[in-house]
Amino acid sequence: MSLEKAGGRFCSGKRAGLPAQRPFPVIQKVVASMAHLQEEKLRLQEELLALQEKLAARESEEIAVSVQLRGQVENLKANLREQAQEIGRLRSEMGGTDAEKHRDLLVAENERLRQEMKAGEGELRELRRQQAACRDCTHLQENAGLQERLCQLQREAEEARAKLAELELEVQQKTNRLAEVELRLKDSLAERAQEEERLSRRLRDSQETIASLRAQPQQIKYIIKTVEVESAKAKQALCESQSRNQYLQEQVGMQRQVLKEMEQQLQSSQKTAAQLRAQIAMYESELERAHGQMLEEMQVMEDEKNRAIEEAFSRAQVEMKAVHENLAGVRTNLLTLQPALRTLTHDYNSLKRQVRDFPLLLQETLRSARAEIGQAIEEVNSTNRELLRKYRRELQLRKKCHNELVRLKGNIRVFGRVRPITKEDGEGPEAVSAVTFDADDDAVLHLLHKGKQVSFELDKVFPPQASQEEVFQEVQALVTSCIDGYNVCIFAYGQTGAGKTYTMEGTSTNPGINQRALQLLFSEVRSKAADWDYAISVSVAEIYNEALRDLLGKEPQEKLEIKLCPDGSGQLYVPGLTEFSVQSVEDINKVFEFGHVNRVTECTNLNEHSSRSHALLIITVRGLDRSTGLRTTGKLNLVDLAGSERVGRSGAEGSRLREAQYINRSLSALGDVIYALRSRQGHVPFRNSKLTYLLQDSLSGDSKTLMMVQVSPAEKNSSETLCSLKFAERVRSVELGPVSRKAELVSWPSQEQLEGDLPGSSSRGHASPSPGLPSGRTTSIRRKLQTSGKLRPVPV
Ligand code: ADP
Ligand code: MG
Repeated sequence: MSLEKAGGRFCSGKRAGLPAQRPFPVIQKVVASMAHLQEEKLRLQEELLALQEKLAARESEEIAVSVQLRGQVENLKANLREQAQEIGRLRSEMGGTDAEKHRDLLVAENERLRQEMKAGEGELRELRRQQAACRDCTHLQENAGLQERLCQLQREAEEARAKLAELELEVQQKTNRLAEVELRLKDSLAERAQEEERLSRRLRDSQETIASLRAQPQQIKYIIKTVEVESAKAKQALCESQSRNQYLQEQVGMQRQVLKEMEQQLQSSQKTAAQLRAQIAMYESELERAHGQMLEEMQVMEDEKNRAIEEAFSRAQVEMKAVHENLAGVRTNLLTLQPALRTLTHDYNSLKRQVRDFPLLLQETLRSARAEIGQAIEEVNSTNRELLRKYRRELQLRKKCHNELVRLKGNIRVFGRVRPITKEDGEGPEAVSAVTFDADDDAVLHLLHKGKQVSFELDKVFPPQASQEEVFQEVQALVTSCIDGYNVCIFAYGQTGAGKTYTMEGTSTNPGINQRALQLLFSEVRSKAADWDYAISVSVAEIYNEALRDLLGKEPQEKLEIKLCPDGSGQLYVPGLTEFSVQSVEDINKVFEFGHVNRVTECTNLNEHSSRSHALLIITVRGLDRSTGLRTTGKLNLVDLAGSERVGRSGAEGSRLREAQYINRSLSALGDVIYALRSRQGHVPFRNSKLTYLLQDSLSGDSKTLMMVQVSPAEKNSSETLCSLKFAERVRSVELGPVSRKAELVSWPSQEQLEGDLPGSSSRGHASPSPGLPSGRTTSIRRKLQTSGKLRPVPV
């Protein structure tokens, strides 16, 4: 219906009239497709009808088949039922149970009969026996009867057996039949299931076909609808095409107009072209005229050129002539120059010769120069050698002078230093100074003791106001002599609190001899660095109660021994004494700090302890003169002695008394040694104390010793001051012996060897120091305590 409508509209659209001369291919296409669709629709409708018919036939067929199948199924079911009934019947008929019962009955019967038979046989035997016993008696008759009966029974048993076998056979046959029937039944059931399956498949197919056939008209309807929609679109396209046609016609009109205008333009341009052609003709005529003019001008120029060439030629000829004339002049000149050239050539040749001879000449000159230089070097060398010799001589002289000076001053010198009054001295008459000085003599001091003035003369006296620098200035000559290879001892002696530690150690801001000595050594070593290599090392030790301890060692509490070198050289050494190599003030401070810490950790009351022990700083300076190869070793022993106060006399007891005894003994031993040395005695009692034994090498020979006697000026200390000053004076007042040092040095060993006091000490004063002990920090150094530091040449 909708298709027809669409067609109607289409037709009306056609009628609405497009111009016949302008057909629309789209509409034609639509009309053709519509017709085609109509045909297709009819065809499909026919097909649909045929399919519906087919479907109906198929349905009826299906129904018939299903009816047939149902019948078959019913038949089969009936068959099955029959079979089942047959089986039931057969079962009931021959029924496993009945037959078995029957058989059992028969078996029981059989058994019973057997037993009866046995019983009968028993009876028979009895009867036979009785028969044998009593022939022709009633028993025989009876026996016969019984035998008959027995036979009968046996027959009956045989029959029963045969019947039983028959029945068993029948049961077997029926069982076989039943199995066959069951097999058939199974087959028929499987067939039926297959048939059912096949039928249901066919039914499904048919239904699907029907459904697809039913769906087809829907498709057709959809196509018609689509066409309907498309026809509307086609109409719209038609309208658009018409309007486009209109537009194109308008365009054509416009183009025609444009064409007209262009034709007009063409005509005007043709006119212009004609005009231009006329102009060109005019120009061409002008051009011809100009060409003619140009040819004329060229002719004129050609003429001018020819003229100019002729002129130039004539000019050149004139110039040529002049050149020829010049050439003739040059030739004449050349003739005159030839002699000059000859002389030049001659000069050149002579120069060439000179150049050739120059290397020889040079070599000659060089040889002579070398010879001269060699000679000059030789002269310089000899001068140098001379200077070196002189320098050495001067050095020796300086040493000699120095030694002489020291000798004149005395190898053992005694200084006194009076400390200022301090707060610790308290106030009042006891704190008043009992010491006065001589304004004209700095070696004299007066002590007011118990109302009497006692005067003392020492080598030098430092008043309380004397600074550390001033004190050090007086001792620095000793310190430097250590660099030259001398052994030096500086002792601070005096009662506790008299200023021994102040003089030796000082304070951090105002250091004493110890640090200043090391600083001086460093600066001296630096100033000599151009010629000398020096190594400075230090050891710090203490002697307490005659026990020697290494304050730089790992175990400061360990007692060290002073031993003779086992090499028989007679030198002493302290096994295990630590020696630190120092290169700067920082190193020294570290070493002092370390030693101080060890001393502190060792005792509970340091002040007390330090006043009762001798503190030793041993500085060793080893030098090598690079130019001469000389080696020197000098030792500087700086000793802060224990307090010299007389404790023992003031009633001390126990350990304090023992300490005092040790101190007194060692100090008086020191006094004895110094006394013996200064008075040039043959025997020096070094071994009377650890201190003197340890310092033996630094006290004897060319060694220099300084005793700094410290005193307190306070009134209350006057008696101790008196004792100290007496000790000082006694040491100093010893007369120097008349013997020369050399003779003395020779005399000592023989004396000591005689006494057996110092075995092997004959080498004292002459023994060579161990060359090049390792510098740097060492522990447990087996080193020799060397004797006097004379310069000893050691081959490098
Ligand atoms: P000692 O070591 O003999 O027992 P100290 O060196 O400890 O004596 O000196 C005792 C005190 O006197 C310290 O306080 C010290 O600073 C002071 N003293 C010693 N000598 C001087 C001096 N010359 N100038 C200033 N003070 C000094
Ligand atoms: Mg002290």
